[in-house]
Amino acid sequence: MSKTVIVFGGGIGGLSAAHELSERGFSVRVFELRDVPGGKARSVVVPSTAPRQNVGTVHLGSLAAPTRRDLPGEHGFRFFPRFYKHIIDTMARTPYRGSRSVAENLVNTTDATFALFGRRPLKLPTITPSNVPELFTLVSDLGSLFGPDLGIPPEDFAFFGERIWQILTSCSERRLNEYEKIGWWDFIGAEQRSEAYQKFFGIGLTRSLVAARAKLASTKTIGDIYTQLAFNLSEPEISTDRVLNGPTNDVWIDPWLTYLRGRGVEYHLNARVRSIEMDGGVVRGVMVEQERSVREVTADYYVSALPIEVMATIVTDQMVRADPGLANIFPLSHNTEWMNGIQFYLDDDPPIGRGHQIYLDSPWALTSVSQAQFWTDVDLSRFGDGNIRGVVSVDISDWETRGLNGKPARKCTRREIRDEVWDQLKRSLNVQGADVLEDEDLVHWYLDLDIDPLLRANAEPLFVNLIDTWRLRPRAVTAIPNLFLASDYVQTFTDLATMEAANEAARRAVNGILEHSGSDAPPCQLWNLHEPELLEPWRASDRVRYRQGLPWDDTAVRLGLSALAALYRGTSALEASIVNVVSSAMHVEDVLSYIRTGESRSELVQRLTSGPGAPSGELLRAFATLAGTVASPAESVATSALEALASAERNPPNVEPPGVTTGNVRFVEP
Ligand SMILES: Cc1cc2nc3c(=O)[nH]c(=O)nc-3n(C[C@H](O)[C@H](O)[C@H](O)COP(=O)(O)OP(=O)(O)OC[C@H]3O[C@@H](n4cnc5c(N)ncnc54)[C@H](O)[C@@H]3O)c2cc1C
Repeated sequence: MSKTVIVFGGGIGGLSAAHELSERGFSVRVFELRDVPGGKARSVVVPSTAPRQNVGTVHLGSLAAPTRRDLPGEHGFRFFPRFYKHIIDTMARTPYRGSRSVAENLVNTTDATFALFGRRPLKLPTITPSNVPELFTLVSDLGSLFGPDLGIPPEDFAFFGERIWQILTSCSERRLNEYEKIGWWDFIGAEQRSEAYQKFFGIGLTRSLVAARAKLASTKTIGDIYTQLAFNLSEPEISTDRVLNGPTNDVWIDPWLTYLRGRGVEYHLNARVRSIEMDGGVVRGVMVEQERSVREVTADYYVSALPIEVMATIVTDQMVRADPGLANIFPLSHNTEWMNGIQFYLDDDPPIGRGHQIYLDSPWALTSVSQAQFWTDVDLSRFGDGNIRGVVSVDISDWETRGLNGKPARKCTRREIRDEVWDQLKRSLNVQGADVLEDEDLVHWYLDLDIDPLLRANAEPLFVNLIDTWRLRPRAVTAIPNLFLASDYVQTFTDLATMEAANEAARRAVNGILEHSGSDAPPCQLWNLHEPELLEPWRASDRVRYRQGLPWDDTAVRLGLSALAALYRGTSALEASIVNVVSSAMHVEDVLSYIRTGESRSELVQRLTSGPGAPSGELLRAFATLAGTVASPAESVATSALEALASAERNPPNVEPPGVTTGNVRFVEP
């Protein structure tokens, strides 16, 4: 009989766990509090926005059948950066309309807009140029970063480049143990730089994109995300950013649930998990409230996919005794920020941009996506009153700073929030005579119902990674043998509260269950963040320095590279001279004396090519990798040097003198 699993929380973490478990033969039940699946990634319908059909003269109000669908609203718009792997892999295995997958509902954006009050918005491509005219456009756009539009001084730009370079070339140990303890604001030296620099690199891309305060956010987290986005930009013809081609639940979550239910997953909506019951160090069951009655449900394994602030209300002393690390959930549960969506429905589709807009100096840290252009299969005339042509979906990421109306969003009424967000958008987009957003086009708006202005409460805040909190965050596999965690706050490679992290956490939880249950099903695949081979020499060198307790410094690698460049230039001359010597040599020993370093060859080989702990071997291999990437002649030199060292160890003494072919040098072990 198949093992049973109870998953509580039906957001991306819970759905992902159910997906992987059901495909591996487990019998899964999910308990979700709300009446809509998807958690913070859900889209919703905006109540009573479609006209109702009355019967004859009887007015049925909201009971009448709608003639169209209610307008599509959402908790916050969805953004799928190119570096996401886990969630995309799951989406690719989720069927959509027969032969397709929901991953095919992702569409590329082509640009990102950076807007400042009263200045011309700057558009940068999210796809690397693939031809010369596109390259010229990019260069001119980048030039605008320094010009009057954004006004970042070139020296600030260069300084930021150096900071990013340091992250890119630091080893993972340094990133985790040093940068995790430094705030992003300090790391990028924002305090000493221009206001434009602070707005763009400090606040704009931190607060607006991931709701984190630059002064409190960990450099490891923000640096990793920046570098992933930058790597994506370096891949020609691939967009760094994707969005869905329709409302999230229509084109992703609902088809996902249909698939899971088809596989036998029981997904209960309106089911609140009230407590976790322990017995002798293991979970005995969970108390679930459904239709006003509470009952205990039991299974072989339990996966908690609850958000951290809810989990903190459920962790008990007994659980902490069984796994002391769970006590960290209490302090961590305060590390949340408000981030919520508001949508504006227009009778015209505004020409805002084909991607994200980041409103760099908007006091409420706004970002937006104009969605209708991406919803190619969605007939908007079938929604609302039939006249909607544009949907601008906005995320508000700063609820503390006073707006243009003098009030922080947290203290505003719903109507005040609507007015203020609209005003901040217009100040950013309606500039230099352009009327991108017009009041008369605004037909409707919807603010997520999580926001309760009366109580000044937000039912679903977002977890943020603050400085030096990685060590506090729990792993997906807890010390309680039948309890696993599958939420965005768990330690993951992704290391940022996102759908990608929730999915990765779920995979880790499922792998824990597979291991504990002795299942022979294949484990779920995990991906680390992309670390380009090209920079491995720097990382290897930094690893050596880190282990010696030295600070980051890339001088040695720069010198090494200069040497490589010199080697590259001098390859022909060097080879010619070696060929000369070798051809005139009468004995192997003569050749060997030419190359002998004083240390025995086998010792040298051993030292240079032994395991990963050997710094110089690591460095040499890394150079070979780099050479392989940057220049084929240099590669042949580096590779033949490595091959020579390896074969020198294998070959017995007294072999024939080496054969020498032009452009290729072989050495022989004595
Ligand atoms: C406005 C906004 C925009 C965002 N945009 C993006 C984006 O573009 N890209 C991206 O990758 N990430 C984005 N994120 C982050 C992302 O949405 C979350 O990190 C991710 O969805 C978290 O998934 P989760 O399953 O861990 O948690 P959740 O989504 O919070 O799911 C937890 C589930 O548990 C349920 N629950 C709560 N209490 C109980 C209970 N007692 N019993 C049973 N069920 C319960 C909740 O209803 C919910 O469904 C955004 C977040 C916000 C707030």
